[in-house]
Amino acid sequence: MAEVRQRREILTELPGPRSRQLMERRRAAVPAGVGITMPVFAAAAAGGVVVDVDGNSLIDLGAGIAVLNVGSAAPAVAAAVSAQAAAFTHTCFQVTPYEGYVALAEQLNSLVPGEVERRSLFLNSGAEAVENAVKVARSATGRQAVVAFDHAFHGRTLMGMTLTAKAAPYKRAFGPLAPEVYRLPYSYPYRCAAGASYDECGPACAEMAITMMDRQIGGDRIAALVVEPVLGEGGVVVPGEGFLEALSAYCEENGIVFVADEVQAGFARTGKWFSIEHSGVVPDIVTTAKGLGGGLPIGGVTGRAELMDSVHPGGLGSTFGGNPVCCAAALAAIEEVRSKELLQAAWRIGEIFSARLRPLVEECAAVGDVRVRGAMAAIEFVSDRKARTPDQRAASRVLASCHEQGVIALKAGTFDNVVRILPPLVIGEELLIDGLEVMEKAVRAL
Ligand SMILES: *Cc1c(COP(=O)(O)O)cnc(C)c1O
Repeated sequence: MAEVRQRREILTELPGPRSRQLMERRRAAVPAGVGITMPVFAAAAAGGVVVDVDGNSLIDLGAGIAVLNVGSAAPAVAAAVSAQAAAFTHTCFQVTPYEGYVALAEQLNSLVPGEVERRSLFLNSGAEAVENAVKVARSATGRQAVVAFDHAFHGRTLMGMTLTAKAAPYKRAFGPLAPEVYRLPYSYPYRCAAGASYDECGPACAEMAITMMDRQIGGDRIAALVVEPVLGEGGVVVPGEGFLEALSAYCEENGIVFVADEVQAGFARTGKWFSIEHSGVVPDIVTTAKGLGGGLPIGGVTGRAELMDSVHPGGLGSTFGGNPVCCAAALAAIEEVRSKELLQAAWRIGEIFSARLRPLVEECAAVGDVRVRGAMAAIEFVSDRKARTPDQRAASRVLASCHEQGVIALKAGTFDNVVRILPPLVIGEELLIDGLEVMEKAVRAL
């Protein structure tokens, strides 16, 4: 395989002629409902670079939506995948089990914070992990209500989209939604729902959420509280200090299963194995997917043994869930995080983000807020700083400018006014800075 050189190089206009041809074929073969961020077709990828079918080398600041934490086609992952694929590709763990699944469960059971006995179950995606976390919580508690938060994203299955906050595009036209799902305010310090200041938002929003659980639902009716410790699709929102802690205490008092959805922010992305570790909270259940499989599709549910074991035999499972090739990839990816010290890499990337992006708040009227949590960053655009009016067009213009110049970045946020940056953790520093410079110029040009 040709080596992917770690630099940006644009040889054609973007998208180039071969990508444009493939887009035409795509239009005729794939439904329009499958959206596309950048109409450029990939031919190869490694480190922080995606090479397209026209030979352009693009800087990857999206990592396939926080998936390629260890990089695309990481040699150790590719080797583990081919060895497993040559041995056997599938048996179905529920038919004839294999060691890789158990070994991966052992790894996750020990990585999830808290000195408690854990069990892990594997599925095929983040949405399926969330679905199963809810099933486990309902079975363990004998209750039905599930609470989720404003700005949340939890996937596109029936329960996933019901738990997701944003109507368009995730829920519009797809109802009826699942019953017994309730929504609470999330601590979004820049837009505090309780009207508190940036520093007071955490406790203020926790109090609002707890009052709603008490008065509108009843704590003793709630099976699970499902929360992203850092919002991903919602715009890389880091909740105010004390928010998660207060919710967790309420869950403990009321026998509610606290589910940390770590699908996006977990697996080393924020400089910790799990983003909940930035708080002191020990979650009852953690859901994983995106970064877990080193680019292969796998989702996990890791929870307290007594909760996970409460489900009757045969109540959990999936034909492909925890496929042996995906388990081998995930085990190799965990080893990559350790041997390449990617937790530290995520911290360093976060320092570069902070140093380069935070000054934009002072310098550019259109930048309302900059948020950084390890290798997750966001720039939130506003048209009026005082009113904090979301400026969706500014975010679109910055992204269009990045994409034209060969820098892949993502949009996010309930108001579509956030540019989100999620590079592979193995990206070289020069490459990262080149990508950020392109973005900063686009922001300054607004
Ligand atoms: C992406 C995501 C999901 C859904 O994962 P899929 O693999 O796309 O089903 C669930 N929760 C969070 C927090 C996510 O970011």
